[in-house]
Amino acid sequence: PSDKIKAIFDLIEKEKIKYVDYKFIDVPGIWQHKTHPIAELDESIFTEGSGFDGSSIRGFKGIEESDMILVPDPETAFIDPFIKEKTISITCDVKEPGTLKNFENDPRYIARKAEQYLIDSGIADTSFWGPELEFFVFDDVQYDVMSPYRGTSYSINSNEGIWNSNANHVPNLGHRVRFKEGYFPVSPTDTQTDMRNEMVGVMHEVGIQVELHHHEVATAGQAEIDMRFDRLKCMADKVMKYKYVVKNVAARNGKTATFMPKPLFGDNGSGMHVHQSLWKDGKPLFYDKDGYAMLSQTALYYIGGLLTHAPALLAICSPSTNSYKRLVPGYEAPVNLVFSKSNRSAAIRIPMYNNNPKSKRIEFRPPDATSNPYLAFSAMLMAGLDGIKNKIDPTEAGFGPLNKNIYHLSDEEKAKIKSVPGSLEESLNALEADHKFLTQGNVFTEAFIESWIEYKRLNEVNHVRMRPHPYELYLYYDA
Ligand code: GLU
Ligand code: MG
Ligand code: MG
Repeated sequence: PSDKIKAIFDLIEKEKIKYVDYKFIDVPGIWQHKTHPIAELDESIFTEGSGFDGSSIRGFKGIEESDMILVPDPETAFIDPFIKEKTISITCDVKEPGTLKNFENDPRYIARKAEQYLIDSGIADTSFWGPELEFFVFDDVQYDVMSPYRGTSYSINSNEGIWNSNANHVPNLGHRVRFKEGYFPVSPTDTQTDMRNEMVGVMHEVGIQVELHHHEVATAGQAEIDMRFDRLKCMADKVMKYKYVVKNVAARNGKTATFMPKPLFGDNGSGMHVHQSLWKDGKPLFYDKDGYAMLSQTALYYIGGLLTHAPALLAICSPSTNSYKRLVPGYEAPVNLVFSKSNRSAAIRIPMYNNNPKSKRIEFRPPDATSNPYLAFSAMLMAGLDGIKNKIDPTEAGFGPLNKNIYHLSDEEKAKIKSVPGSLEESLNALEADHKFLTQGNVFTEAFIESWIEYKRLNEVNHVRMRPHPYELYLYYDA
């Protein structure tokens, strides 16, 4: 057995672990799990796997071919801090029964193929990923999808700021976050420092290295916790764990955390900006001291790929109907497909904090945390590599650089700039028309792209479109 497997059995003995929890990722990007008494775990599981019914998992299989296999990846084991009886959690790869071939829709498999494709390209051997997840912590949220009218109402309570709609249980109304001034006064205005510390403490326990946390701009308890960068699949694994920690620590504090991009109209939304760079033989490829914003030509081509494919890419990186309520002017979310030094109103920002070649990276700002991180990172990598292979110069392609605040441009200047799609429906149409860059090397299969588009159209676009919106009552009730 590998050292990692041996280490797991040693840990089980030392910590007197009682259960093993197998986790895996469904296609939308939510962890699923099943639990076995620890006696059920033996070495054979790491090669032969453990069965489950794939037909009940979103984006997996039809009921007629439902048997599937989970093979735990020993690299991912950790003691689950949210389960009372001592439990070891292991993330699994999903395999076909009998043959034990990798399941084509398993997001981790797609991520592994993307990393291999990068190596095979000869362009680089490593990609580093630094996603910045933002989220809200509310006191409570109520929404109603089970009534006969199925989902036309919701309300959110927060003890911070102007959104409080239920003052009874609020300890402190004297100190409130001023509108868009959540970034970042001290306590007692910031009521969530201790909770964020608690989240970071648990993250460290489960193997996530954190660089900082802070309150975010929005008025109602918006937070950000930033992890140290890592390789593609490892970082996607960490994003899953990160969300699990955030939601569970919030829950044990009697709160609820959400990563949905735009829970509140009129205030900042939550993004997942993604810092990224390519490396080869231990050397960074994105730095050139003489380039624009100290970027190498390779980095510029990578940017050209991201921006050229952005409309299609967003069907995977900003993949919810709610994503497009965030991507509007005025809230630090990107709207325009340009790149720029430091400018937070551009889709791609080049951080200029220092001149260190090793920290030279680009920040792609449209993504949000409703994306499946394995798919989102893989898709961005494929778009960037397509830019490098086809030498797509972002300036020649009309994507800037632009150094002004884009929100304040004249109409004439604005007319030249392309925008992000206005809806999930538009992004899905763009993906349908433009996905060859994703199917290179069979990283994403054609069948996967088709099923993704169909899934999103049927289950999300149509279901949202068919429901009367509360604001429609305001507009039309008295018509
Ligand atoms: N919350 C903003 C967004 O939706 C970003 C704020 C920031 O620059 O961190 O993208
Ligand atoms: Mg932020
Ligand atoms: Mg950022």
